[in-house]
Order: sequence, then C-alpha cells, then structure tokens
Amino acid sequence: MFGALIGDLVGSVYEWNNYKAKDFQPLIHPRAFLTDDTVLTVAVADAFLNGRGLVDSFKDWGGRYPDSDWGGRFSRWLFSEDSEPYGSFGNGAAMRVSPVAMLSDDLDEILELARLSAAVTHDHPEGIKGAQATAMAIHYARLGYASDDIRSLVADFSGYDMDRSVDEIRPGYRFDVTCQGSVPEALICALEATSFEDALRNAISIGGDSDTLAAIAGPVAEARFGIPQAIGLEAWARVPMDMRSVIERLYESAGGELNAN
Ligand SMILES: [Mg+2]
Repeated sequence: MFGALIGDLVGSVYEWNNYKAKDFQPLIHPRAFLTDDTVLTVAVADAFLNGRGLVDSFKDWGGRYPDSDWGGRFSRWLFSEDSEPYGSFGNGAAMRVSPVAMLSDDLDEILELARLSAAVTHDHPEGIKGAQATAMAIHYARLGYASDDIRSLVADFSGYDMDRSVDEIRPGYRFDVTCQGSVPEALICALEATSFEDALRNAISIGGDSDTLAAIAGPVAEARFGIPQAIGLEAWARVPMDMRSVIERLYESAGGELNAN
C-alpha cells in the first residue's frame, strides 16, 4: 500500500505535464506532493482497520486535506451532505484499493472488500471491476505468482487486454481517467517492470493520469519487488503524521515490511 503513495508522489508533477519517457530525474521531484490518491488510500485503510464506515472515513480525510487535487465529481460528493454512490467508473476506485489486498490472504474476501471500497461512490460495474482487478493483481504478486500468470488471471477475471507491452501502449495512449482506460495499462506497467522503480518509470512514461497510473502500479510493484529503502525513506519524509499512524498500523496488522524507517 505504501507503494501507492510513492507512485502518487512520483506522478504528481506529471499529471498535468506529461513526460512520455522513463528517464526523468530525480525519481521523486522536489515539487512532488501527495494528492487525492494518497488521501483516499489512507481513508480506505482507516475504514477497514478501525471498523469505520467508508463514507465517514472519506469525508473525514477529505476534510483534513481539502486541497488535494480532487476530481470534480468526487469533490462535489465529498464536500456535500450527499452520501449516495454516483455510478462512477473513474479510476479513483482502483487508486485507493491497495490496503484491502493486505487485510486478507483469501482472494474472495479481498474481492469483496475491494467491491465495498469502490461501491460507496464508484458503483458502476467498471468501477467495481477496476478496484477488484487491481486488488487481485496485488494479491497474486504478494503470493509470488509469475507476472505472465498474473496477466492471464487478471485478463480472465476482467476481460482487460493484458497482452500488450508498455512500448506498445505508450505512443497512442491519451489522458483517460476511466478504470477501463487506465487500470489495465497501469497493471501492465507494474507487471512488465524489472524493479519497483522501473514500474513507476513505466507508469509515468505512458503519459495520461500519471499520479493515478503510478498509484495503481506502485502497490503491485511493491508486492513483486518490495520498496528499496532509499526510496521508502525519501517518500516517508513527505507523509504527514496522521497518515503515518494509519499506515504503520496497516503494516503491523498485515505483517508486511514498511521500508520507511
Ligand atoms: Mg491524484
């Protein structure tokens, strides 16, 4: 899950200023910042760890970080009295799902938690599927499945075309915030990668919704490779204290390695 925050951080400076190559420097730009992807990922972890309602948690965390580059429709929902889902199939459902893959070792349970985490706002079938496909990829990566097998399992589950390379995707890829137009590409970026950092570089290099693509690729890459300590430490220094305590509790309860201190 920390991999999602690092992806968000790395991608934050490229969302509105795409850089369609892998050689950007440094990995974490001095002006990088944590965006909505991070706030909601922490909110999902907080909800499931502490038995809070998801709507409650989203509105609480949204209120703490009102200037987080929120999507327009989500922002109207977040800062209103409204608590009903609005049929979204935006990639917000996938960018915030990573904690659920750490909360269970049982795929059916993970898919159900992923569905719940999406459905409070993103209750369109494509929204739910985007969250579930992402959680599934993280789950299989945690179990050590080969990346080609993960591609097939995700493709069978979702119907996504997982049979493309990053080089094939890059030239024609355009900004697309739908699940179906960004989740498969983000997962391919993570599954083709040769290291954690390479996955984030892949995700930036295709352009589009960079912070969210990298926030989806990040936790899959984390599950495959772990987070190199230097990157973990640099990113951790940017994480506010109230988020840190949720993240630390998640890693304690999941028994995962938080390469942050
Ligand atoms: Mg964002």
